Amino acid sequence: MHNPIYLDHNATTPVDPQVADAIEPYLRQHFFGNPSSNHIYGQRAHDAVEKARYQVATLIGAQHDEILFTGCATEANNLGIRGVAEAMRNKGRHIITSSIEHPSVSAPLQLLKRNGWEVTVLPVDKYGLVSVESVKNALRPDTVLVSIMHANNEVGTIQPISEISDMVRPKGILLHTDAAQSVGKIPVSVDHLGVDLLTLAGHKFYATKGIGALYVRKGTPIEPLIVGAGHEQGLRPGTENVPAIVGIGKAAELIYKSDGFEGITLRILRDILHERLLEAVPDLKLNGHPDMRLPNTLNVSFPNITGRELLKQAANDVAASLGSACHEESDKVSGVLGAMGLSQQRAQGAVRFSVGVSTSISDIEWAASTLVSALCECGLKSACHIPDKNKLICNKQIYPH
Ligand code: PLP
Repeated sequence: MHNPIYLDHNATTPVDPQVADAIEPYLRQHFFGNPSSNHIYGQRAHDAVEKARYQVATLIGAQHDEILFTGCATEANNLGIRGVAEAMRNKGRHIITSSIEHPSVSAPLQLLKRNGWEVTVLPVDKYGLVSVESVKNALRPDTVLVSIMHANNEVGTIQPISEISDMVRPKGILLHTDAAQSVGKIPVSVDHLGVDLLTLAGHKFYATKGIGALYVRKGTPIEPLIVGAGHEQGLRPGTENVPAIVGIGKAAELIYKSDGFEGITLRILRDILHERLLEAVPDLKLNGHPDMRLPNTLNVSFPNITGRELLKQAANDVAASLGSACHEESDKVSGVLGAMGLSQQRAQGAVRFSVGVSTSISDIEWAASTLVSALCECGLKSACHIPDKNKLICNKQIYPH
């Protein structure tokens, strides 16, 4: 019995062994220091947190005191959106967003709506792209914030954030982007994007789960969501999770040092998987933008079979997902694919494969082979007669692992 090939890195990434090594001393040796304490143990914990703040800041081209550590990206999105809305409530109560945001953005906006804010939700095109023109047309004198994700978690489409910034920021409107999926997969610079607020998720770039960060450009008006002591500039009170913060710092450093190299490898692996599947299923449809897309993300719709059926059939060999991990239990088709105008049938046939830095070429060949076998077993005739080139025939035994 072997473990299925993990092709679900947009849901979460494994912890990098170097990240685990960096964390370990903060669990076994320095664990008792509270970063707010004045003694040597507190000082060590404090220094570790501050080092991580520099590491995260360096990765995205920010100043160290513009990084706030949070418990997750959901919390960072809530703080960025609701915290700014609260601080700007006397200036205006109109916010612009897109129809393909993660629930950790759309739900806080719904909450604000119930409390008297007005929210304009922009449509996307068939690739999942928001048009800069639509943002321009939605601007109003009372618009205080635009929140549009950097890269979509389900289809990987990358939004034109810097163009949106060029339009909104000269008008004094703040710009937030949820970069939970893009950080670690493509270069992300807060100045290049021109954002005031940016969300990061440690567990999407090889740190542990339960750690996120919010970049807040100096001078941005923002209120805390929870109140307590003065941690994180009073914006996120509560004793810091030192080991997890050390981990996100190390993960950020590793990505910074890799200098974008990993993106190239991810793209090659993803595209081989796509080619293999296309050879067997000529009617396969790509969901998301063909070029402006995360290099690790392949969301495709299979004809005459639902994504759920396919993943069930291939479950012993491949772990992928139907879309956002947050909706896996539900039978409803993805809201993202719906917003892109996909038919119900095409949306139901969709599967998201997302590769990561530990994915190997043999993983991809094995995954492709077993997916094709599963398709054949599920009655997709074209998958049973593909060329012998890679021995991708309807026989699960062919690839020893
Ligand atoms: N934003 C995006 C785009 C995501 O993909 C996710 C997680 O899937 C989140 C936010 C929320 O991350 P977390 O569950 O760590 O809070």
